[in-house]
Amino acid sequence: MKKVDHLKSVPELPESINSKKTKPRSIAVVDEDNCTGCEACVPFCPVDCIEKNPDDKYDFPIIPPVQVRFNECIGCQICAKVCTKLTWDAIRMIPTAEFEKRYNIKID
Ligand code: SF4
Ligand code: SF4
Repeated sequence: MKKVDHLKSVPELPESINSKKTKPRSIAVVDEDNCTGCEACVPFCPVDCIEKNPDDKYDFPIIPPVQVRFNECIGCQICAKVCTKLTWDAIRMIPTAEFEKRYNIKID
């Protein structure tokens, strides 16, 4: 009888880490006052750049909202669509130039 290998092997890691080649047209920004911290958007991000804020950021007990590591965001809008369609409406896509001006953060 043929032996079935149910355990799939872990894919090889790439030899070099890729980075963005061009500046995205827009950046996802989570409105922390509006985010429920449900984390529904997290697994949908193709570059895995949405993370929970640390608990100790807040003076009161809450489910911490998520936020985007802005410099890794590729502006694909998936998280914004997921949030709006599946849960809430807490993510805004902001044009990159406006984002840099508003938050004084330079996107590479
Ligand atoms: S899906 Fe929306 S409400 Fe849920 S964690 Fe993401 S941004 Fe927050
Ligand atoms: S816009 Fe795309 S890359 Fe940026 S945080 Fe949302 S899902 Fe991730």
